[in-house]
Amino acid sequence: ERPAATVLGLGAMGTALAAALLDQGYRVTVWNRTAAKAAPLVERGAHAAATPEEAVAASPLVVACVLDYDALYAVLDPGAAGLAGKTLVNLTSGSPEQAEEAVAWAEGHGLDYLDGAIMTTPEGVGSAERMVLFSGARAVFDAHRPALAAFGDPLYLGADPGLASLHDAGLLGLMWATMAGWLHGAALVGSEKIPAESFTPIAIRWMATVTEIMTGYASQVDAGRYPGDDATVDVQIAAIDHLLHAAAARGVDNSLPELLKATMRRAAAAGHGPDSLASLVEVMRKPQPPA
Ligand code: NDP
Repeated sequence: ERPAATVLGLGAMGTALAAALLDQGYRVTVWNRTAAKAAPLVERGAHAAATPEEAVAASPLVVACVLDYDALYAVLDPGAAGLAGKTLVNLTSGSPEQAEEAVAWAEGHGLDYLDGAIMTTPEGVGSAERMVLFSGARAVFDAHRPALAAFGDPLYLGADPGLASLHDAGLLGLMWATMAGWLHGAALVGSEKIPAESFTPIAIRWMATVTEIMTGYASQVDAGRYPGDDATVDVQIAAIDHLLHAAAARGVDNSLPELLKATMRRAAAAGHGPDSLASLVEVMRKPQPPA
């Protein structure tokens, strides 16, 4: 008997999740508000349910991936009674607080709940190289691990249901800052007609150095002590001026590096000039009220 799973929401991501379950031999039932989106999955052997209630009834495991929590409750609330005894794995993006509310909602309806965050694009779903973050009841994670592993490498972060969303937010912040730094560099170097395809392999090698520095600084962040043995905030402030100058001279927008410099200067003003760059975490932990 093949294991069964239901997927609610067949946008780009839900479609990829359902396809990954089909790839792993699951008997997959799907439902989407816009029914036509189920067609490619039905062609691959999925069953398209006419309503969320019918979809939920078909499997012990229900995976939901819709736009946001409003959409999630719009889909689930009308037939919530049918969810009793089922497991809901919610891969809809949201805040840690929304995950906590969802746990209370699930308890009220007698179902098991696990919160998750997919750390890849739909193309990456199904690859063991990609992380899928989970938080909530450990027993629920363990019981459904084979299905969760169909989506990527499942990482259990802890019993607090908000942890997956919390990590997701932090990791997206890292992605946006990194992408913005890379694009700023591409604009700067590109102003001298150097293509991004030449700059990018060098940038990627540099990322390896950056990750080494992160690894070394993590213990400084945890200890709250930031010995500036390798490079100090004062030195970085002088160095960022070279970036600002080079970019300004070439007409490249400097709002991002200006923001970074301002953060470094706040750290220096708080006495961290001789400390390592890891000391910036101190000004981030004590945000200043807007001027
Ligand atoms: P899409 O826009 O492709 O799909 C959105 C889905 O939500 C569709 O199934 C849509 O139904 C459904 N939906 C929206 N509003 C409602 C509603 N009121 N009632 C019922 N269903 C509704 O988005 P994605 O698939 O890309 O994203 C889905 C979730 O996955 C989001 O939370 C997103 O943040 C998360 N995610 C996406 C990633 C990505 O790379 N795409 C990466 C990681 C997480 P319909 O087809 O009828 O419009």
